[in-house]
Amino acid sequence: MTATIAYDRTVSNLIAELNATGHVTHEAYKKTSVTLHHNAGRFSHQGMVNLWKKRRASAHFDVDAAGAVAQYVKVNEYAWAVGDTAGNQSTISIEMANATLAPGWSVADVTWKSAARLAGWLFAKVIGKRPSRSNLFYHHHWSSTECAGPHMEKIYDKVLAETQEAYDHFKDSHHPVPGSHTEPFPGASFFHTGRKSPIIAAMHHRLVTEGCNQYQSNANADVWGPGDVKSYAAWQRKLHFKGADANGIPGKASWDKLHVPNV
Ligand SMILES: [Zn+2]
Repeated sequence: MTATIAYDRTVSNLIAELNATGHVTHEAYKKTSVTLHHNAGRFSHQGMVNLWKKRRASAHFDVDAAGAVAQYVKVNEYAWAVGDTAGNQSTISIEMANATLAPGWSVADVTWKSAARLAGWLFAKVIGKRPSRSNLFYHHHWSSTECAGPHMEKIYDKVLAETQEAYDHFKDSHHPVPGSHTEPFPGASFFHTGRKSPIIAAMHHRLVTEGCNQYQSNANADVWGPGDVKSYAAWQRKLHFKGADANGIPGKASWDKLHVPNV
């Protein structure tokens, strides 16, 4: 199963279900912007997939009425979202559930603030640039549409400020994320040096995220950020690794514990 982003909040994984609609292009592109949409309805995460079964469309993420996040398309891939080829190649699209319908199309604070926080994370961990007017867009930036609706239009400045605040938080945090360009572990280069195959990268990512998620859910707290050395070492100790084996570096013993073939 394709993993979601290693966000520090729950991300429901609907990548396989969206893939089954066929409305996604599995080609990777460098992402340089984030585009926000309203979904013109009060859809649940599953409701969006049901909609996309009928409509030739998709997006990378959806934030529901309660602010919960789901992922449908891998961040670097091409979602069928903005009605413009260059846009779909270069942007990451986030749908938001509406709180009220036409003509106001409002989006609840809890929803757009969650979307802005996610956007801030994407700018910090994937795009590598601070959000500004020239890379945080609404759908109508790319094609002729009212999306993301009149309510979001009015509050753009607030949305941008919130996104920048989130970006600054994630940028400064010492919690690098596995699979990003930063090095999550002192030993991570072992997995990359001369071993560039996507399978190895995917297995490494799985090892790190599963280890940390397992530890963090056992500890019932998000004590540390995803994928940091301390979390990983604590998880190793929990599995009764001793001394040098609980060093926060995924080694052979860790791989064996997770039943990941050590290749
Ligand atoms: Zn839209």
